[in-house]
Amino acid sequence: MISFDLECEKEHRFEGIFKDYQSFKAQMRQNLIACPLCNSTNVKRLFSGCSIQARPVSKISKDGSSRTFFELVKELRAFVENNFENVGREFPEIARAIYYGTEEARGIYGESSLEEMKELAEEGIPVLPLPDVEKLEN
Ligand SMILES: [Zn+2]
Repeated sequence: MISFDLECEKEHRFEGIFKDYQSFKAQMRQNLIACPLCNSTNVKRLFSGCSIQARPVSKISKDGSSRTFFELVKELRAFVENNFENVGREFPEIARAIYYGTEEARGIYGESSLEEMKELAEEGIPVLPLPDVEKLEN
């Protein structure tokens, strides 16, 4: 079982539980996922987190030979959470402002939708998705 954070067009957030990623995709494609509050099927997946590194910071770690992918992701998350500023849902706007120099350059992390991440990437803004390890492991 996996769970995803979802949001409808009215910005109601809810969690969807699915058998696996394939069934999530299939239900998404057939508009079978409805918002529990307003019943809208115009639903998108929220990324649990993402970050932008505006300035070079010291390396996370180098001796990673025996680490698993999950451990590495966990470390990356912890690093980001300790060193970057959490801007929550403001992430896309602030990331853009930092990139274009209208906000103070700093590392930030927060939430954005797949659509917003795509737009940022298309503008050349170096955003990095942060997988939610706890959920992946469940
Ligand atoms: Zn809704």
